[in-house]
Amino acid sequence: MLGSMMQQPLLISSLLTHAERHHGDVQVVSRRVEGDVHRQTYRELAARSRRMANALAARGVAAGDRVATLAWNGYRHMELYYAVSGSGAVLHTINPRLHPEQVAWIADHAEDRILFFDLTFLPLVEAVAARTKSIRAYVAMTDRAHMPETSKVPDLLCYEDLIAGASERYTWPVFDENAPSSLCYTSGTTGNPKGVLYSHRSTILHTYAAALPDALNCSARDTILPVVPMFHVNAWGLPYAACMVGAKLVFPGPHLDGKSLYELFESEGVTVSAGVPTVWQGLLAHVEAHGLKFSTMHRTIIGGSACPPAMMRDFQQRHGVQVLHAWGMTEMSPLGTVCALRSRHAALPEEQRMAVQLKQGRAVYGVDMKIVDAEGAELPQDGKAAGELLVRGPWIVSRYFNSEDDPLVYADGVGWFPTGDVSTIDADGYMQITDRSKDVIKSGGEWIGSIDLENIAMSHPAVATAACIGVKHPKWDERPLLVVVRKPGAEVTREQLLAFYEGKVARWWTPDDVVFVDAIPLGATGKMQKTRLREQFANHELPGAGAVRPHA
Ligand code: ADP
Repeated sequence: MLGSMMQQPLLISSLLTHAERHHGDVQVVSRRVEGDVHRQTYRELAARSRRMANALAARGVAAGDRVATLAWNGYRHMELYYAVSGSGAVLHTINPRLHPEQVAWIADHAEDRILFFDLTFLPLVEAVAARTKSIRAYVAMTDRAHMPETSKVPDLLCYEDLIAGASERYTWPVFDENAPSSLCYTSGTTGNPKGVLYSHRSTILHTYAAALPDALNCSARDTILPVVPMFHVNAWGLPYAACMVGAKLVFPGPHLDGKSLYELFESEGVTVSAGVPTVWQGLLAHVEAHGLKFSTMHRTIIGGSACPPAMMRDFQQRHGVQVLHAWGMTEMSPLGTVCALRSRHAALPEEQRMAVQLKQGRAVYGVDMKIVDAEGAELPQDGKAAGELLVRGPWIVSRYFNSEDDPLVYADGVGWFPTGDVSTIDADGYMQITDRSKDVIKSGGEWIGSIDLENIAMSHPAVATAACIGVKHPKWDERPLLVVVRKPGAEVTREQLLAFYEGKVARWWTPDDVVFVDAIPLGATGKMQKTRLREQFANHELPGAGAVRPHA
């Protein structure tokens, strides 16, 4: 016997249809590449998306074809989210911070047919056009008046011409909810980029879960500004969740410096934002330097790498902006855990509450997770045992795009995705990442968590950023080296920083040395590139490396 409810596939187009019908007057505001601010409603967005769907069909884009973008967060990108996926094609959002060689490699691997790009990226597109074999047409995301002069991009089309030349009448096709909707490559911080092909079903289920109160908590009362790029795992699902709940959306375009972001937050009444820790540094520095206050923003989602305690303290205690710490991966659409508090945490003193908030949080329903030891045996949820974090669920990758390899590990016949993260899980289900397995520092056979050491350094008033890496040691295999960027004008010595660890960690965790640098290399998604630091300091000689250090 089967249930007798309607069979209706979960399709991305239904989010737009819902938004148009039930909150059609809500605004989508975008700061454009040119610097001006553009406004439209969900009703207008839906109409233009239908026009674009017609334009794509007229260009021969068929179900399953890959359509690439190199674009900032903006309304045209949002239109493509719906026009491409809604019509049955696959939206491939490429990270424009990658090198042209890598972009061309990814585009060819994905077999992209057509590439849409913001004008900022013309030089990149020219370089890619000379290298790619698969892309046949290019669309500049602008109007006729701003079309660029170039001889290096073949078959160059104009976005607004395509829209103007197509009918607004279009019926979103109905197809299998397991059909592919979008494609995102991991940034390659852990090897060659790998494609993750999301489906309509996985996206809709992820959207339901992301919008929940203890997840990203999106509602019709919110004005959401995703700083996290639409090419970084679909801006963590916010362009979908906003349509589902009827939140106003504000897109910052390329203007991501502290001043521009602050002005947009204030002028548009932004209530919630989201981004990786590095983007907030510029914003907080601007706000501090000018003695500004956030008048409408009351929470921000921080993920992608660990939120440093100093940043959480600044947001919450100085600015009254609640931090929601979240963890996920490209392979997980991306949401895995969000750190929402339970009611009994409300009575805790501020610092104890923050200790909970600094964990990466509890699994959202739909994500099953566990930690295992090197042999694959499950470890206890006691907040102490650390092991590799495995996950499974309907919006978690089962295999990479165009790859035969099976990435899963199996236990009792059930497949789990190995995240490559090392974590603890406490009795309340709060997960805390101690490291990426490849960033773990292994000293005398035991793990030292680099995130802890970085967080301590970053709580020093003179430190802007810090990264901790393992360097070779004759006796202990590896010992921690702290790489530090000082705040402008601030002074701190190696000895003072090492002394700063006293009483905060076990003595053998204290870094062996400190080096000061002007900047730490950031990867394409704004995360510290520890691989590059490891290369740079591969031959770093630790002081007293021959001596025996207490290892207990
Ligand atoms: P990439 O590897 O391309 O940077 P992802 O954005 O998919 O791609 O990165 C996922 C990884 O980022 C996770 O496996 C984890 O190591 C790290 N990460 C994400 N969120 C957090 C967080 N809140 N705290 C610590 N690490 C995080």
